[in-house]
Amino acid sequence: MRSRIRWASAALAAAGLAAASATSAGRGADGDFDQRTSAHFVLYQDVAIDEAGGFHGSLRFEQQVLAELERAYEALDRRFGLRPLRKLDVVVYDPAVFDAHFAGLFRFPAAGFYGGVIRVRGDTRLTEPLSRVLHHELVHAALDAAAPSLVVPAWVNEGGAEWFEMREAGKRGLSAGERNALAGLARRGELHELGALSAPSFAGMAPRAASIAYLQSYALIDHLARRGGERKLAQWLAELVRSRHLERSLRRVYRLDLADLDAALRRELS
Ligand SMILES: [Zn+2]
Repeated sequence: MRSRIRWASAALAAAGLAAASATSAGRGADGDFDQRTSAHFVLYQDVAIDEAGGFHGSLRFEQQVLAELERAYEALDRRFGLRPLRKLDVVVYDPAVFDAHFAGLFRFPAAGFYGGVIRVRGDTRLTEPLSRVLHHELVHAALDAAAPSLVVPAWVNEGGAEWFEMREAGKRGLSAGERNALAGLARRGELHELGALSAPSFAGMAPRAASIAYLQSYALIDHLARRGGERKLAQWLAELVRSRHLERSLRRVYRLDLADLDAALRRELS
């Protein structure tokens, strides 16, 4: 799942999104989903694209979304060695419809989530935030496809999705602001314990707790990427999928226990 509230810009995002949903509410989607297929995806799309765009507006949008998903697919293979074989279903909703249907599932505003199908809060064009959500949710879908019944701890699933999303957007590791925020949280004893981050999902967390959980999970994956090099992340995920055992995969690939990893990150932040 991808939260719409990021730690560093929570207030700004909330203000912007309130305005965005106010404008989209008037147009409405017709509930008649366009379906379009690419090599690895089936896209269902029902965003109310304004009349000026017309049919060609929708068509162009769908082609852009599928092209972006295929780019993300190749990147995910390159970075994480994950390459789902069956076609993945992706539903892009009109923002107002998405909020009306799914707001109750989470305690914080969601931009998308995966539950067998990738469901995304859409836009009328392929924006950078939408691209990032597509990258993010693809990680969840690919991990599920690689190990369908494995319950992946949320810090691995969400941290991996955040890391991949940001890495593909050109970001390398924690920003100075994120590092300072985490260091402050660590000083005040407000970081989550690893046990809380190891639940299957952060969906039940309140907005502030969730934004800390996402950032801390990203920091854990970033720590692994810096410790072993980015290529080792793919080895580790392959070992996790093969052994179905998180502790074993960390020990085998990084020679680390979970507690060591947690302590190493906290040491870096202190
Ligand atoms: Zn997620």
